[in-house]
Amino acid sequence: MFMIKNITIATVDISDNLITDGVIVVEEEKIAWVGEKYICPYNEHDMDAVIDGGGNLMIPGLINAHTHTVYYLMRGLGMDKPLKTWLSDTIWPYLGEINEEEAYLGAYLGYMENLRSGVTYVIDNYYMAAKSKKNVDSVFKAMNDTGIKGMVARGFHDLNFNVPEIFMEETEEIINEYKRIFSKWHGANGGKISACVSPVNLLYTTVDSLEKTIDLANYYKACFHTHVAEAKFEVDKINARFGKTFIEVIDEYGGVNERFHSVHSVWLSKKEMSILSDRGGKVIINPASNLLLASGIVPVESMLQRGVNVSLGTDAPNNNQDMLESMKLAAILPRMENLNPLAVSAKQALRMATIEGAKAVGLEGEIGSIEAGKKADLVLVNMHSLHNTPCNDMIANLVYSANQSDVLNVYINGKEVLNEGKFNNLSPKKIVDDVNNQMIKLNKRVSRL
Ligand SMILES: [Zn+2]
Repeated sequence: MFMIKNITIATVDISDNLITDGVIVVEEEKIAWVGEKYICPYNEHDMDAVIDGGGNLMIPGLINAHTHTVYYLMRGLGMDKPLKTWLSDTIWPYLGEINEEEAYLGAYLGYMENLRSGVTYVIDNYYMAAKSKKNVDSVFKAMNDTGIKGMVARGFHDLNFNVPEIFMEETEEIINEYKRIFSKWHGANGGKISACVSPVNLLYTTVDSLEKTIDLANYYKACFHTHVAEAKFEVDKINARFGKTFIEVIDEYGGVNERFHSVHSVWLSKKEMSILSDRGGKVIINPASNLLLASGIVPVESMLQRGVNVSLGTDAPNNNQDMLESMKLAAILPRMENLNPLAVSAKQALRMATIEGAKAVGLEGEIGSIEAGKKADLVLVNMHSLHNTPCNDMIANLVYSANQSDVLNVYINGKEVLNEGKFNNLSPKKIVDDVNNQMIKLNKRVSRL
């Protein structure tokens, strides 16, 4: 049992309680007690360790609800292009070449980057098994080996909409592959890891596979994670094919429920928002990616007004997985929808990066806030850096001033992963060297294409 004292605690509980001069007591994997020091029933002498938080801010472990870690092997490539060209000229040629070892290194690097920025749970969307179907196993293995919690969303294409042939799979093949993945990885690493189904986008999905993957998600009680209405042309294409919108089509087949993830959702209609709200479907926004690709501005204010759950991811067209940066963008970008500076508050942005993400993965009883009985996924943020001084308002500083370099300590299930910004058991130098060395080989192979 250990105690962390001398901290301000952003609990992100139902009333967004902020506890000054707070104490957290951790027993085994869970938070045993949280509150103000002067009413703490625990004695320091009974603790195995007492950690002084130095007057800094403790937040729940962040939840990066949408990224593609392996894509970060292409970091910096294909910038300054629209989504279609970014995919066709840069991402697809590389994805077609990436082997099992490279998928492992890309994912491992991505998980370390997430941990370094205070992320304790990640939804990693890996798609397209071109070289080897085992690439996705490499992603799961990297998740297991780094110790981060998360869900791997294995994507697929079975309808060719200008996608290279090597990325196409037969519907039955996809379903069998999901069955293999679920039996091997769902609930792995003591329950820290799970799987979900993930048609990349309705654009590339047959009605047959849509129906079958919805059935599969229901069978496993798993999430259904898919890109929805990211770019405007997608909405027009779906309308031309079905005479309906994304959410209307998926809902017609029974796919929209509380485990449904509508990733991006830039061009959702008001009707689609109402369907999501009625069914408990979740929206996952990625503001940095939307800005970078000029996809548009997600109508977050309209969604929140309709009671839609909105959580947050970094995505891959972003160039970093700094959830603190994304949290700032999640607060300020939605203000453009109605030119309303009150559209999303700093507190709401923090909720999107924590408890709302926990709801998206159905783990709100376990993670996403600092409350007694929950898993001790905790992040200590330095409030004494130059850019966080003076600290007149910790939540305002966290959302509008801080960045990933301010993350000091990270705990997952009560186990310290990062201390004073340094990893306890993982080596940044090794993964940086390994990735750089491997990229020489990968770049050579891609340049020969
Ligand atoms: Zn994405």
